[in-house]
Amino acid sequence: MSCAFDLDHYRELLKAAQRGGYTFARFDRDPQPGDLFLRHDVDLSLEAALTMAELERELGVTATYFLMTESVFYNLASPAGEEILARLRALDHAVGLHAVYPRVRRDRRFDRVLAWHNPDPEYMSQPVDGFVNAMEPPWFDRAHYRSDSNQRWRRGCPHTGLAKRKPEWLQLLIHPEIWVYEGATMGESMRSMLEAKRELALQQLADDRIDLS
Ligand SMILES: [Zn+2]
Ligand SMILES: [Zn+2]
Repeated sequence: MSCAFDLDHYRELLKAAQRGGYTFARFDRDPQPGDLFLRHDVDLSLEAALTMAELERELGVTATYFLMTESVFYNLASPAGEEILARLRALDHAVGLHAVYPRVRRDRRFDRVLAWHNPDPEYMSQPVDGFVNAMEPPWFDRAHYRSDSNQRWRRGCPHTGLAKRKPEWLQLLIHPEIWVYEGATMGESMRSMLEAKRELALQQLADDRIDLS
């Protein structure tokens, strides 16, 4: 099995977790043996999040999508942003706030769960008033956490462990952009994403009655 960062292998990862007998859990209760907290930090692309959400739904998997209100790369308040948020809910996923420290505002679009974007160690795991912080104990400890950041698994791709339910419970952080836009390196994946965004932006310009002739 090639451990590529693409949707085929993402599907294999999820199926491995299902073979391992994990339960897809939300951050609304403490971790229990067999729980898999599937977490998505949506840093760059709502479209990638929706693609991933639809694949998960097809497999009967639920995840928590952490969305930003102040992203440089997308606008959650735009009609497309609102539509994608509603679609994530309709596909039975949880939606949390991907906040930029120290700004937190309670907002009815989000469940009471938060993850900081690019956090510093000083506050990463500190409690946040009115929210579950995905990186605070008991939801986070290093033995029960894997992340795909920058297309690099620190301890190898988790698919083998998942099939054997190792570790006993897990928080798995997956960035949708890395898997939806193909590339053998992070740089290539980002360039694939920019191509897709360019096509989308041209369509948005046309929709906005800009003469592109
Ligand atoms: Zn793998
Ligand atoms: Zn982030």
